[in-house]
Amino acid sequence: MVHFDKVQKSYDGETLVVKNFNLEIQKGEFLTMLGPSGSGKTTCLMMVAGFEPATHGEIYLDGQPINSVPPHKRGIGMVFQNYALFPHMTIAENLAFPLDVRGIGKAEAEKKVQRALDMVQMGDGSFHGRRPAQLSGGQQQRVALARALVFEPKLVLMDEPLGALDKQLREHMQLEIKHIHESLGVTVIYVTHDQGEALTMSDRIAVFNDGVVQQLAAPEVLYEKPENSFVAQFIGENN
Ligand code: ATP
Repeated sequence: MVHFDKVQKSYDGETLVVKNFNLEIQKGEFLTMLGPSGSGKTTCLMMVAGFEPATHGEIYLDGQPINSVPPHKRGIGMVFQNYALFPHMTIAENLAFPLDVRGIGKAEAEKKVQRALDMVQMGDGSFHGRRPAQLSGGQQQRVALARALVFEPKLVLMDEPLGALDKQLREHMQLEIKHIHESLGVTVIYVTHDQGEALTMSDRIAVFNDGVVQQLAAPEVLYEKPENSFVAQFIGENN
């Protein structure tokens, strides 16, 4: 569904922060990009989102070069660490916004907003009229997740979506995201530097270091058969 074909990225025209990156992500897969800070994970996500062009190579979405598809037609939902909810809009308005952009009528939009809020267990009516500042961090992150799902995307990009939450809430949200992924069958590309999170949630994990994928494998394979000392050490940390 997403195919990175010999992708390279440089921001300054000299240093490659992503080096000859090849990856095929299957439909319905939960693929995690895991690695230390600065290893190029976010850059890869930004290139899929269309916010950054690849310097060399091509990224394909369902067989089409990604930049040949207009952003609102790509069917990509995004969730980032800092939520990026619109502060002046209510929760219901925040969720209706991506539907409005896609020309979905009001009655249909209301149903979709309700369904998305139900998905993140915030559909009881008490949240619709509030503004983001009137919610806790965890609730805001749930709304961000609902907003990424509300237009029924085929692909969801998540960049450290739980990074700002405390441990207990993070673990709860991990289960919630996993449940949503399984019940919707949506494809997810998830970025984290947290080994435990990657091992719990992913179908496959791409372990990054210095712009290179060191190993791409299912969690249990990475854990039991790391291909090199970097993977062994990185996966072993905090586990
Ligand atoms: P983190 O976990 O800290 O977010 P990451 O693995 O996601 O790290 P990237 O954010 O992709 O890594 O960064 C990879 C490299 O590219 C880093 O050296 C970073 O400084 C550099 N970089 C990222 N964004 C830009 C930018 N907009 N302009 C210049 N350099 C950038």
